[in-house]
Amino acid sequence: MKKHNFYAGPSILPDYTIENTIEALKDFAGMGLSLLEISHRSKQFVAVVDEAVALFKELLQIPEGYSVIFLGGGASLQFCMIPYNLLGKKAAYLNTGEWATKAIKEAKMFGEVSVVGSSEDKNFNYIPRGYEIPADADYFHITTNNTIYGTEILEDLDSPVPLVADMSSDIFSRPIDISKYAIIYGGAQKNLAPAGVTFVIIKNDILGKVERSIPTMLKYSTHISKESMFNTPPVLPIFAALQTLKWLKNMGGVAEMEKINIRKASLLYDEIERNSLFKATIPAKEDRSRMNVCFVMNEGFEQFEKEFNDFATEHGMIGLKGHRSVGGFRASLYNAMPYESVEALVAVMQKFENLKK
Ligand SMILES: *Cc1c(COP(=O)(O)O)cnc(C)c1O
Repeated sequence: MKKHNFYAGPSILPDYTIENTIEALKDFAGMGLSLLEISHRSKQFVAVVDEAVALFKELLQIPEGYSVIFLGGGASLQFCMIPYNLLGKKAAYLNTGEWATKAIKEAKMFGEVSVVGSSEDKNFNYIPRGYEIPADADYFHITTNNTIYGTEILEDLDSPVPLVADMSSDIFSRPIDISKYAIIYGGAQKNLAPAGVTFVIIKNDILGKVERSIPTMLKYSTHISKESMFNTPPVLPIFAALQTLKWLKNMGGVAEMEKINIRKASLLYDEIERNSLFKATIPAKEDRSRMNVCFVMNEGFEQFEKEFNDFATEHGMIGLKGHRSVGGFRASLYNAMPYESVEALVAVMQKFENLKK
């Protein structure tokens, strides 16, 4: 039976990415050697990094004055690299979930942190609005898509201070106005590549403003000046990321992706609204994530949670179990998820409803 992959991360990748990576594992760039056993400084691999950077810039329309680098350590390492490199005295953070909370914890080691808004009072089920960003903050940090709770900031915010965004789970899902951001970063394993590489898009002129000395490996300028080749970069995930970027371009780029993502998310949210058995966990429609659709059993049907999970799994729906801090279900609909898989999930939800009526 066909499997439909709804895992939240690591998660679904395009077949194109997986097939080309398998080929390169056998014979990379016609070298007669595996991608796993070649020098990262070979001209063939340097060309991979260069092309990946060029496609980042093309697909996201990154203006002049920004660098794109590939690092190890996951998005979580950025939680400390950002304040290390940028926080002189004070930074502002928006607390929209577990990842934001972790980022705040790290920043506090480097200076004053002003949490300007938080949705913790309601288990992070909304996006805070109407907060004020202090003009004397060195930067303002947001998490655009809250992978665990299923909320998303779908617009590019105006910030009086440099805007820093964790886009681990929604990068390339819609066009973004890069010029509004100072840093955009993310782990690759949600929407781009296998785990192991982190991308950072960084406006060059925000660096060099803090007094402290920064360890070489944790300093953005080290990696910018060496074009991600200061030390051995994660070779395989970067190669796979390039394949996904080529696939994205072929699909029509981020504008086209956004259209498909809206169709996929609407299909599922509409079914959740219609189906008497289920309820969305995010009340406000404008706060609902297109990437991670969270839902629970409706009142009176709570006892069927495990049964639905088993039923869905038997029908090839994989990875639907919600995060332990929310419960219920989470269907992750990243770029590589075809519309047909969402249709298949909706059909399973309808079949289950008919069984219970
Ligand atoms: C998964 C995730 C992270 C953590 O990424 P790692 O690469 O595992 O460190 C951070 N932020 C968001 C929004 C995520 O979804």
